[in-house]
Amino acid sequence: KQDGERDKDKADRATSEQVLDQRTRMILLQMINRGAVSEVHGAISTGKEANVYGAVSYDEETGAATQRAIKVYKTAILVFKDRERYITGEHRFKGGFDKGNNRKMVKLWAEKEYRNLRRIYNAGIPCPEPLALKLHVLVMGFLGDKKGWAYPRLRDANLKGDDVDQQWQSLYVQLLGTMRRMYQVCKLVHADLSEYNILYHDGKLYIIDVSQSVEPDHPRSLEFLRMDIKNVGDFFRRKGVDTLPDRAIFNFITVPEGPVEEPELAEAITKLYETRLAAANEEEAAAEEVDTEVFRNQYIPQTLEQVYDIEKDVKKLGLGEGNELVYSKLLADQVVAPKADGEGEDEDEEDSDDESGEGASLGS
Ligand code: ADP
Ligand code: MG
Repeated sequence: KQDGERDKDKADRATSEQVLDQRTRMILLQMINRGAVSEVHGAISTGKEANVYGAVSYDEETGAATQRAIKVYKTAILVFKDRERYITGEHRFKGGFDKGNNRKMVKLWAEKEYRNLRRIYNAGIPCPEPLALKLHVLVMGFLGDKKGWAYPRLRDANLKGDDVDQQWQSLYVQLLGTMRRMYQVCKLVHADLSEYNILYHDGKLYIIDVSQSVEPDHPRSLEFLRMDIKNVGDFFRRKGVDTLPDRAIFNFITVPEGPVEEPELAEAITKLYETRLAAANEEEAAAEEVDTEVFRNQYIPQTLEQVYDIEKDVKKLGLGEGNELVYSKLLADQVVAPKADGEGEDEDEEDSDDESGEGASLGS
């Protein structure tokens, strides 16, 4: 290799390996100048796609310190390729992005995380408060104690007391309520929900890591939702929780009618348990299991384009054979492509420019 080329390689590598590259340091300095943070501390977490740092912000007048967390997306990596599936089909990012341009891509991810956090935070769901955003650097509220220790991930939560089983059960119910609230109020499917992206403190679950979250009109949102439901169920079953069938949860989350606030959400879930108990003989339980398996593998169309032969399907409906359609249940529940109506997005100028024609709904 030529000398110049080798130097450039070296420089590139240094940039990608250095904890904070020059650009990122510039951004942090700017944020310090503008008062978004006062000091940046060590890494809370170093991940494949991003590092999270602790930080402190001092109140100008009182000097009181407030903890912050700063998520810095890595610009020099290729793992973002995999993330394209979350962006493709997002009307908020219709222009798509230049796959060759990592910097643009990570900026987009940080932006997505910021906007999604804002929606979730505004809906009153426990999550970090989004505070500032600049390119691939996101400042948010710190979820942790006064000493700077972050709350544990749900995976590492160490529940105490003689009613631990009961605590797991109610955390499960809490999370299902949050998932419905996120879907109905925020118009978001987390799309990477698991015990790794939930923090636990004092009986409360905090949702984090939402850069990949999508709106219900994303062509794969219901597939992502189904995965989220599966991950959540698998985890809580390992904790000994008596979980509900995936399909029942899916309907609970997506059906438009019904509560979106506590305590009504928890009450609705209690009802789901009662319904299930009423149907609890062994045969039906077995059928339910098969049902869950089928459900997990089922193709769920969400938009008109995904219905292969509209005329034929309409004819079927006319002949009263609608329940033969794979999406019959969805038709009945009117949960096909719930329209994202831009709720809670008043501050998102960029969101409002291209919503026409989105979210074609079979249900209306
Ligand atoms: P990644 O994309 O690397 O998974 P996450 O957003 O999941 O990034 O954050 C990684 C880890 O950083 C989390 O598991 C959590 O321990 C910590 N973390 C993230 N955000 C915060 C926050 N606001 N407050 C405290 N800790 C946080
Ligand atoms: Mg994570």
